[in-house]
Amino acid sequence: MQLDLLHEQIKQCMACGLCQGRTNVVPGEGPERPRIMFIGEGPGYNEDKQGRPFVGPAGKFLEELLATIDLTREEVYITNIIKCRPPNNRDPLPEEVQKCNSWLELQIELLAPELIVTLGRHSMARFFPRQTIGKMHGKFADVNGQQVFAMYHPAAALHQQRLRDTLIQDMKKIPEALAQEDQHPPENEQPEQLSMF
Ligand code: URA
Repeated sequence: MQLDLLHEQIKQCMACGLCQGRTNVVPGEGPERPRIMFIGEGPGYNEDKQGRPFVGPAGKFLEELLATIDLTREEVYITNIIKCRPPNNRDPLPEEVQKCNSWLELQIELLAPELIVTLGRHSMARFFPRQTIGKMHGKFADVNGQQVFAMYHPAAALHQQRLRDTLIQDMKKIPEALAQEDQHPPENEQPEQLSMF
């Protein structure tokens, strides 16, 4: 319910110039109490048309990756660093990322995921500004009490078998990290409050 309200607010956003070229805002989608939150870069052509994240070829691969750890996209929350499509899919500008960051912060606060998975270098830079994805991918890190895991962007792997394999291997590390979390839940959280998948 609160998540629906937040999505409605995001849909009204006019904070940066991207609002002029968009067909739809893409706030994100998934359950209100997800264990995992995936953060991509920004909407592309298909996402802008449908108002939903990761619905094109990269989304199809993301769904395949989720299936390798017995998850469906309905069980995780999926969003992006920026919520509106940049013209011709160019990289997001720093001021666009900065303006949109207030929405992302509200989403993270409301959803309180056990694990944030960043997809691609723009999303990774939100948590690890001075790192490279080549160094950070596949590693779990604590960022101010939030567990964060960086992965390559699924789109980058569409035509590169080597990256595809890396993404599959990295994805396989996620269930074990969540299982460890189950054994050592944060003190203020009871195990039964965690939704299982
Ligand atoms: N790429 C992204 O980073 N996000 C989407 O939603 C789709 C493609």
